[in-house]
Amino acid sequence: MAEKVLAAVRTAPQKTEFREFDMPDVSDEAALLKVEVAGICGTDVQFYSKPPFAGRPVIMGHENIGTIAKAGKIFQERKKLKEGDRVFVEHYVGCMNCEFCHRGDYRLCWFTDWRKHPEGLRFGYTPADRAPHLFGGFAQYMYLPWNSVIHKVPDGLSAEHAGVVTPMANGIQWALFDCGVGFYSSVLIQGPGQQGLCNTIASKQAGASMIIVTGTNKDKKRLQVAKNLGADVVINVQEEDPLQKIMEVTKGEGVDVSLDCTAGAGNIPVLLGIEALKRKGGTLQIQGEASPDFPNFPLGKIGNKYITIKAARGHNYLSCELALKVLASGRFDVSQITTHRFGLEKTHDAINAVGASGDVIHVSMMPWN
Ligand SMILES: [Zn+2]
Ligand SMILES: [Zn+2]
Repeated sequence: MAEKVLAAVRTAPQKTEFREFDMPDVSDEAALLKVEVAGICGTDVQFYSKPPFAGRPVIMGHENIGTIAKAGKIFQERKKLKEGDRVFVEHYVGCMNCEFCHRGDYRLCWFTDWRKHPEGLRFGYTPADRAPHLFGGFAQYMYLPWNSVIHKVPDGLSAEHAGVVTPMANGIQWALFDCGVGFYSSVLIQGPGQQGLCNTIASKQAGASMIIVTGTNKDKKRLQVAKNLGADVVINVQEEDPLQKIMEVTKGEGVDVSLDCTAGAGNIPVLLGIEALKRKGGTLQIQGEASPDFPNFPLGKIGNKYITIKAARGHNYLSCELALKVLASGRFDVSQITTHRFGLEKTHDAINAVGASGDVIHVSMMPWN
């Protein structure tokens, strides 16, 4: 049987080629995913323009939802899954032996650190010149080795809405698990893109009493969606002074937690976060890669205000399970986030659509459309 699988392959910066791969054999321990939705995020935008593994082909797509098309006997027994089940596959493929894997922190496992360990595996990142090639969601099928981390999608949750699971899991991880947002917390969320909106949902579900979301002129629609999903106050930082407004609405107290979801605004959200945090003991979440250099970093203020700094780094197993639950609950109108969908032949446009316009929030790549 010479069945072929069509995939969109990144071959150079901003260049996609369509290639056919052989349908792989599936061992007893492995499975094959029929991809329904591959979510696209800011990381895709970044890596499409500046690819790691220069010169090697990569099937991108790291936020993948699909159905089990074929599954080996051992795979079915171990994962408690059968053919036809709809699942979310984490892009982290763990070693399953280390302390991080045992506690569900696959993102911290050495085996998923594809930059330092070329033998490591990560969906959407691992080059397609490695057999059996189908390691990304911008393809009709994806190969699932034994150590894939898989979550069953709850009944009634559509593939497109389930496709928001990755930013939603990040929201739960960053706001709740890392920064301790909970009952009556006040939260500043900088940036109303898919990550910021999912942090809004997570904070709302956890019981935050004051959720403030900031954006710029291009974010008018997104700020409205933030309000619809539970933000108490939204601020266009190009129209009003954000710090003044934050202090006004918190009656001069400031916020418990500041989250940076600006995707590349550099030092600005860090400095605003430090100022906006409450007098003592607030938590500042940062994006490590957004601000590699920071001259005159106000370390004195961090000490004086007794601030805890947390670096954002993906999501753990539990945050994915909870993300699927909240998406399936119907409590939040996810359709306000899933704004755009593209077929495989539009891969290039789909990636570039993310972040290009304020109307685009979440983009779903649907390989069979
Ligand atoms: Zn992503
Ligand atoms: Zn591990």
